[in-house]
Amino acid sequence: MTNVSPSISPESLNLAPDSRERLGVSIVIPMYNEVENAELLYLRLRPVLDELDRSSEIVLIDDGSSDGTYEVLLQLHDQDERVRIVRLRRNFGQSAGFAAGFDMALGEVIITMDGDLQNDPTDIPRLLEKIDEGYDVVSGWRVNRQDRTLTRKIPSRMANALISKVTGVNLHDYGCSLKAYRREVVGNVRLYGELHRFIPALASWMGICIVEIPVNHFPRQFGRSKYGLNRTIKVFLDLLTVKFLLDYATRPLQIFGLGGLLCFGVGLLLGIYLTIQRLVFHQGLRDRPALLLVILLIVLGVQLITMGLLGEIVVRTYHESQNKPIYVIRNTVGIEENLAKEGPGT
Ligand code: UDP
Ligand code: MG
Repeated sequence: MTNVSPSISPESLNLAPDSRERLGVSIVIPMYNEVENAELLYLRLRPVLDELDRSSEIVLIDDGSSDGTYEVLLQLHDQDERVRIVRLRRNFGQSAGFAAGFDMALGEVIITMDGDLQNDPTDIPRLLEKIDEGYDVVSGWRVNRQDRTLTRKIPSRMANALISKVTGVNLHDYGCSLKAYRREVVGNVRLYGELHRFIPALASWMGICIVEIPVNHFPRQFGRSKYGLNRTIKVFLDLLTVKFLLDYATRPLQIFGLGGLLCFGVGLLLGIYLTIQRLVFHQGLRDRPALLLVILLIVLGVQLITMGLLGEIVVRTYHESQNKPIYVIRNTVGIEENLAKEGPGT
């Protein structure tokens, strides 16, 4: 699994995230070898941001490009100080790019996009409208998806249905990068591997309101897609992780322990039955495969329960080492603000 921590983080810059000046909205865009797209994207974004009723920044993440993307980004920064650049040391992948962008972004609202002109910046005001209505996550839905091949459309439709069913967060288009989040939503999600598409599902543990709106989608004009069919398999495996994290991450004993108890119980009953046959009815056990089964079930049962208990220890270490809260506060009444801020919800 890719390590996603960038070499520079707000902590290492000695900037407590809360002491930094906040902006209205941050547009976070990871780019890997998008040299032809970078400037065009900026030119399309600029008029949209100029028209907004709030302050904004564009956080561009150069994810280890080797085609001169970084130089183009530098030029953009020289033209417009709203453009901020995070350059990763090597290609860490799109999720890591988003994670780096989230760590640096100053916006109260964070909007993610692809850097290849497939998303339409003019959809941004509509995303913001929904956030202003009170939603925590606004997800783009590429109603007219322009990825040329059917071989991509069908697996993706199935994947979206499966992910919705398994995670309980119903979206038509998990794969669409154009999404808007309230700041605290991304602050509570850690991205590993390819998990960026699951942010709405991962964030659902903290209790969020999600809405989906149709957005435009264009075919890729320049450069190539960085993904192939094998992404489907990765997404499926990620889904397993997400499901486990969502349902059992705080109580692993409940999933392992249940299996363990079942095995142990069945093994014990069968063992008692065999013992009675041996002692009371004097039947030999030498040629009874059931004896093997008893041993297998009991050992397996003990193993699973122990694994669950180990899992409990791991989970506690995980939560405590990361300061990961086990609850998130929406607001408090009659409790001083600084007191509430010291709680785990921050
Ligand atoms: N991307 C990235 N790092 C990677 C792969 C992709 O930052 O390792 C960026 C890429 O530059 C683009 C976005 O992620 O801005 C989406 O990638 P792509 O267009 O290849 O995906 P697709 O649209 O084909 O799903
Ligand atoms: Mg693309």
